[in-house]
Parts: sequence; structure tokens; C-alpha cells
Amino acid sequence: MDDGLNRPVSKKLTNLRPAWRFLKPYRRQVLWASMALVMTAGVTLSIGQGIRIVIDQGLSDGSSMILSQSIWFFAILVVVLTLGTFVRFYFVSWVGERVSADIRYAVFSHLINLHPGFFEENLPTEIQSRITTDTTLLQTVIGSSVSIALRNILMFCGGLVLLFVTNAKLSLVVIASVPFVVLPVIIFGRRVRNLSRFSQDTLAEVGTQAGESLRNIKIVQSFNHEAHDVQEFDKRVGVAFDIAIQRIKQRSFLIALVMLLVLGAIATMLWIGGQDVLAGRISPGELAAFIFYAFMVAGSVGAISEVYSDLQRAAGATERLVELLGAPSQLLEPPTSKGFPQNPEYSLSVDGLSFTYPHRKSIEVLTDVNFLIKTGEMVALVGPSGAGKSTLFDLVQRFYDPTSGRILLNGTNIGELKLSEVRSSIGFVPQDPTLFSGSIRANVTYGAPESDEHEIHEALELAHALKFVKQLPDGLETLIGEGGAGLSGGQKQRLAIARALLKKPDVLLLDEATSALDAESEEYIRQSIQELKGRCSILVIAHRLSTVRQADRILILSEGSVVADGNHEQLIKSNDLYARFAKIQFSNEDLMQDKARTAG
Ligand code: ATP
Repeated sequence: MDDGLNRPVSKKLTNLRPAWRFLKPYRRQVLWASMALVMTAGVTLSIGQGIRIVIDQGLSDGSSMILSQSIWFFAILVVVLTLGTFVRFYFVSWVGERVSADIRYAVFSHLINLHPGFFEENLPTEIQSRITTDTTLLQTVIGSSVSIALRNILMFCGGLVLLFVTNAKLSLVVIASVPFVVLPVIIFGRRVRNLSRFSQDTLAEVGTQAGESLRNIKIVQSFNHEAHDVQEFDKRVGVAFDIAIQRIKQRSFLIALVMLLVLGAIATMLWIGGQDVLAGRISPGELAAFIFYAFMVAGSVGAISEVYSDLQRAAGATERLVELLGAPSQLLEPPTSKGFPQNPEYSLSVDGLSFTYPHRKSIEVLTDVNFLIKTGEMVALVGPSGAGKSTLFDLVQRFYDPTSGRILLNGTNIGELKLSEVRSSIGFVPQDPTLFSGSIRANVTYGAPESDEHEIHEALELAHALKFVKQLPDGLETLIGEGGAGLSGGQKQRLAIARALLKKPDVLLLDEATSALDAESEEYIRQSIQELKGRCSILVIAHRLSTVRQADRILILSEGSVVADGNHEQLIKSNDLYARFAKIQFSNEDLMQDKARTAG
């Protein structure tokens, strides 16, 4: 997974504020962590005073009792510090993990209910990065950076106060020299970080190239491309090496610089402080405590500057996650559903329907479409590619709202129903049946998990799938791969029909498979449709003559409008477009089969 280094940052740390909402339920854990944080910072600060007492009273006065007492006191501090660190680390990390899990859940459960158009306008890879990388960034920040920042702010403030309490003159000297020490470290630190990122990118390129060549090894070797690939690989490795060396140079320089500055600072402090000790103005213990606090203050400045970029990255991540969480669904549901009238005459009515895709406003895909489907009727939808057949199916399932016009399901406008009511009244069989990895049973009961064994068998039987499922070694429990791997096209389609039927839909929307199904599978599907006739209303996007002939009625959709309505015989005589379309669309084989069937 991406480590998030390349994710955009936000300069405004206030963007982190919405993350509070997710922290609120865990106030207790945050309180424990905060108490432990204050306690450990306090203990760390008091160590300086301990050092002073040990040196001044234990060592200088030669009192072994005071030395032992001081060491005991020190030991107690260490135990408290250890326990406090454990509590702080545990609770802070716990809260980080919990909050990022909650955010992931909130984002996913929000996204899965959004209108499908949202995923056309937003790249799925970007959404995925937000769910994984951005939440991980937040987890790092809540689970460590914030605590590091708070601890170091406390240490910085406490250390500074104690510096002045210990020796005001020396403190002023230290403060005046801080910019000289910190600035170069920050500048070089930033350069090293940028180069690290660059180095990661170039290494990723090396990996991508190697992966591509090795995945397509036969093509590479077949075209004698090995030497060229090696040369290309060498070039990229060379670039990665050069960048790594630049980073190493900067880093070595940084390390040397830090050593020089730190040791220089110690020497200066020792020199100035030493003079004061010699002159009796301060005790040796005070000087030692002073050096301890000076290190603490400098260290905390360094740590804060380190985590500052983490905080900026997390602010960017929060901004993007909040954007996802706030994305409104364009499919509004009524507060209460109108419900369906008793025994409606029509299970599907389409009235003056026009539609334009929201992100392609220039093209009207459907124009003033009108038709009625009686309850129990079977209607075939026929039309050239791009006529708007699939779009019509999407609108009937309310994946989009019409630009104008209405769709009535069982007598009620679908806009006045809950989305779940619309979808549970409809069974949809897509052209390319999407199956999920898991057992056949899980796939068939996908839309009706409560179904009993009898219902499952009935649906499989109606879909002419029972026989082949029973022949599989594990029957219904047979595991299939993602997308239905391990099954033939016809078998997948029949399972998809069974899945739709198990929902006991009022309207079955069937997008007939165009990919060549073998004659046997095709015949099974034809028989299924025949058995379904009368049980529910069927609207089928038909690509085969056999289906068209089965239908009670045929609707011809052309360039977004219904241009004719009738049965096969009527239309072939009366409608030029249909006659032409039938000739092209329905293969010779289809026509011959049809002739044979009618003759028989
Ligand atoms: P086919 O038989 O080839 O599947 P179809 O009749 O089902 O075609 P649709 O898929 O409904 O046709 O497409 C109708 C028109 O809408 C086409 O011009 C297509 O380019 C456009 N279209 C389809 N889906 C989208 C989308 N998500 N965004 C924008 N335009 C789309």
C-alpha cells in the first residue's frame, strides 16, 4: 500500500477539526492518554532536578545516604515514567486505530449508498486511496504524531521555564543560538525528505518496468527484446542510484552538521556555564540540569518540526475524507413511502421520459419515451447499439433520475418510493452476469438471504440451473472465483437469472447475453423465460429472434425514442427499421432455427 508521502498536504491545520467528531466517542481513552501524557512529560522534566540533586548533594557533599535516596527517588520516577509511557502509547495507538477504522466504515457505508453517477465523476482509484491511504495517514497522526506534538509542546514549555529557573543568563544565550542550530537542520532535513520521496518514486518505476517485462516474458523473448529491456532497466536503476547518492550526501552532511552543532553547543554551554561554576555563581548540578533542559527544549523543537509535516498531510487527508463523507446522494428518498396500490393494472409505465447524463449534458440519450407494460406481460426491447436500452434499465432501477417524465412501478412513481422498495420489486439480469467470489449459494441468495432451501431449488429450476449445480462436486456450496471464474458463460447467466428470480420480483429486467452462448444454454434460457411468462412482468433487451418471438410485444428503441410497438410479424411487415434491423441483428442461424420452429 502507498505510504501516503505523495498525498497532497493542506497548509490549514484547522482542516483536522472534523476528525474530532470521530474522537468524541472515545473521550475516556483520550482522557487516559492525556493524563499519562502530562504525567510522563512532568516526570521527564523532573529528571533534570533529580540530576541536580544527585550531583550537588549526593556527589559534591560526599553524602552516600543522600546519593542512595536520590537514586531511589530516580528509580521511582523511572517506574512511573515507564508505566505512564505504556498507558500513553497503548491508549493513543488504540484511539488511532479505532478512529481510522470508524472513518473507513463511515466513508464506505456512505459511498455504497451514493448514486452510481458519483463513481463516474470520481475516479475509483482515487476513492480507494482515500479509504485506505488517507485513513492510514490519519491513523498515524492520531495514533502517534498528535501525541508526539503535544508531549513535545509540554516539554518545550516546561523545559523553557525550567531553563530560566535554573539559569536565566545561560538561557538567553541558548535562545539566541536556537535559530542557528534549528534552521540548518530543518532545511537539510526537508531536502533529505524530498529526495527520499523522489528516490521512492524512481524505485517504483524500476519495479513497474521489471514487472511489466516479466509478466509479458513471452512477448519480450519472442521479439528478442531482452537486451533492450536490460538496457532500459539499467538506465532506471542508474537514475535511482544517483538520487539515492544525492540523498546520502545530504544525509551525511546533515548528520555531521547535527554533531557539530550539538557538540559545539555543549562546548559553549560548558564554557560559559563552567565559568559560572568556577566563580561559584552556580552549582555543578545546576549546570548539568541546565544542559539536560537545553537538550530537551532543542529536541522538542526538532520533534515538533518533524511531525508538523505529518499534521499537514493528515489535514489534507481529513479534507479529502470529509469531502467524500459530505458528498450528497443525488437520489433523494421521500421521508415516507407512498407504497403500491392493490392489483395495479400496469407493473411498469414510462411516461414522457427524457434523460441526459449529468456529466454529458450535450447529448439527450432518451427523448420522450412512453410505454406501458401490463402486469405479467413480456416485452422485448430492440434497438441498435447506443439507442439507450441499458440507460432505460438504469432509470427504471432509479440509478439516475429522469431529466423529465415519470416512471411508475406497480402504479406508483418511483420517486415516491424508498429506493429499497424500487429495487426489491425489480429483478435484474445483466448482460455480463456479475457474480461474486464465494459459494454458488451465496451468489444465488445475494438479494434474498432469508430464502429457504425449497425457494432456492425452485429458482434454480426455473432458471434451468439446478441440473448443472447438482452435478458440481460440492453442489450449492461449490466455490466460484471473482466474476464467476470456473463457470461457463451460459451457466453464469442462468445463475444470474436464478439470483434475480429468488427476489420474487414484480418486474424482471433481463439484458440478454450477446456473447455467443452455445445452442444448449440458449435453449435453456429461452425455456426459462417461457416458464417465467405470466409469473412476473418481463422487459428483455433482446438480441435473439427466439426471444423476440416469445415476447407479447416488441418495443423498438432508436436514437432514444420508441419508434414502433407491436409483435414480430406485424413489425416485420410494417416497420422498415425493424425489418432491416432483424436482417442484420438476428443471424441467419437464428432465422433458420426460427423457420424450423414455426414449420414444426
Ligand atoms: P448497447 O446495445 O450497445 O449496450 P444501448 O442501447 O444499451 O447500447 P446505452 O448503453 O444506453 O445504449 O447508451 C446510450 C447512449 O448513452 C450512448 O450514446 C452512450 O454513449 C451514452 N452513455 C451510456 N452510458 C453513459 C454514461 N455513464 N455517461 C454518459 N453517457 C453514457
